[in-house]
Amino acid sequence: MDGKVLIVGFGPGSFDHITQRARVAISESQVIIGYNTYVDLIRDLLTNQDIVRTGMTEEVSRAQKAVDLASEGKVVAVISSGDAGVYGMAGLIYEVLMERGWHRGENPFVEVIPGISAIHSCAALLGAPIMHDACTISLSDHLTPWDVIEKRIEAAASADFVIALYNPKSGRRTRQIAETQRILLQYRDPKTPVGLVKSAYRERQEVVRTTLDDMLNHDIGMLTTVVIGNSSTFYHGDLMITPRGYQRKYTLDAVEQRLRPGERLRPENEPWSLNATTGVSTRPPREWAEAAVNCLNRTDNTATVSTNAHPTRGSTVRPGIFEIAVSPGVANKKFSPAQLVLIANLAGDQGEIEYTTAHQLVFRGVTKDPEHVVQALRDGGMTVLPVGDVVKVKACDFCDGEKHEGIAFAQEISRRLAGLPVEKELRIGFNGCAMSCYGAVNEDIGLVFRKGKFDLFLGGKTTGRNAAPGQRVAEGIPAEEMPDLLERIVTQYRENAFPDERFHKFFARVGQIEGFDHKDRPQTVTADAVCGS
Ligand code: SAH
Repeated sequence: MDGKVLIVGFGPGSFDHITQRARVAISESQVIIGYNTYVDLIRDLLTNQDIVRTGMTEEVSRAQKAVDLASEGKVVAVISSGDAGVYGMAGLIYEVLMERGWHRGENPFVEVIPGISAIHSCAALLGAPIMHDACTISLSDHLTPWDVIEKRIEAAASADFVIALYNPKSGRRTRQIAETQRILLQYRDPKTPVGLVKSAYRERQEVVRTTLDDMLNHDIGMLTTVVIGNSSTFYHGDLMITPRGYQRKYTLDAVEQRLRPGERLRPENEPWSLNATTGVSTRPPREWAEAAVNCLNRTDNTATVSTNAHPTRGSTVRPGIFEIAVSPGVANKKFSPAQLVLIANLAGDQGEIEYTTAHQLVFRGVTKDPEHVVQALRDGGMTVLPVGDVVKVKACDFCDGEKHEGIAFAQEISRRLAGLPVEKELRIGFNGCAMSCYGAVNEDIGLVFRKGKFDLFLGGKTTGRNAAPGQRVAEGIPAEEMPDLLERIVTQYRENAFPDERFHKFFARVGQIEGFDHKDRPQTVTADAVCGS
């Protein structure tokens, strides 16, 4: 007996999107088994097959019927929309066969014929939203406990997957999609692009482009797939696009690329890769710093900065944390008691306050209104800046304000540059006299103010066993020229640094900045291991 079960995914619903193998499978079958609507969708492919129509919820009897008929020697096609192995009939048919002690190779012969699943057809209509890691989650809790679904949503949200939600809503299941939105908003920006595609490639196709905070204001039903963007998904006109990351290595509007093909795979040109890192990278994404800058610059009330990834310690991943650096000013080192009370109150029981080597406290709090926090700290007389890969200006205390001539320059430099996003944290050290007791010369860029003029140090290596002060590239730069000069140096770094390239590496690579030549450091001499001489 040569019975066969052909499990056919016929794609989203249009004739043009059915594969050749699926067509042949349907035409070689003697019996077609499927849910009513699906039989109608493939009507044009039918010739003289027997048709077994069933209702939506009768999957088990459909599978049993298919196995029975095939066991009697019939060629049976079981049809599913999209791909039969994605919330379709394939798994169930195998399970029914297993119950009967069937193994592959025995009668009936089984073939799963792949089709275009909704995630792919819907993505194509939206643009290119699943260019990066994506997953599917079905919100149907008829067969899956809701707490399992909830965990999967949370995991996918926190891991920044693009998510395609299948079975998002039906007449009776209306709360699941709202609950899903609530979880996603803990991890993703409310303005995250969301595409709603209903009846893709069918007569009543509808495509809606919306955002995470607005998605429930549109019609979502049984025939909708909801595509949620990740943290880098954007709209270009009505196209929803998730970039793959080409911009990390390529300049897309140039023919001449800064990296030649052979250079692209070198660890130094992909510092984010496993080969280039020794452990788990805890570097905060530059995007996050930019989001914080946007929030600080915004005057309207729409900004929220929320991140699931703790920017400095991977271990305390928590949702919805707002993180910002606070100081009493660039030269002032003293918080007033009232300021500390204000910070503590804003942080609340769930927040935390960390003191750092950058002369700033890092404030972390759970808030839905970061604008309010920023404004309250500013109203309290404090300087508020983003954390992570940004320009940090750290000055001395000018001998408690006694040597005050340099303060105005420190403030001007801080005002212009502090908090600007950069590829890698850029520390500018500022000392108000030649004592340089705050170690400005050891920072990425060091400024030492002496009698109305500056000494400039570039390319300090601030940490590591080969830490070294910056190269003294100039002495006696007139103070009024310094803010402009520094701004030009920082701009060059911001515009031309490779991803993750720290300033000292950048200086060594480009060889010259603003006319200052880079000089290699003296080579290290290895001491005699035995006598140490
Ligand atoms: N096997 C199917 C999925 C069946 S589950 C596949 O691979 O696509 C049913 C869900 O699939 C629907 O609730 C909807 O979310 C999605 N879906 C199926 N066909 C669709 C279409 N043409 N347009 C949009 N979504 C669709």
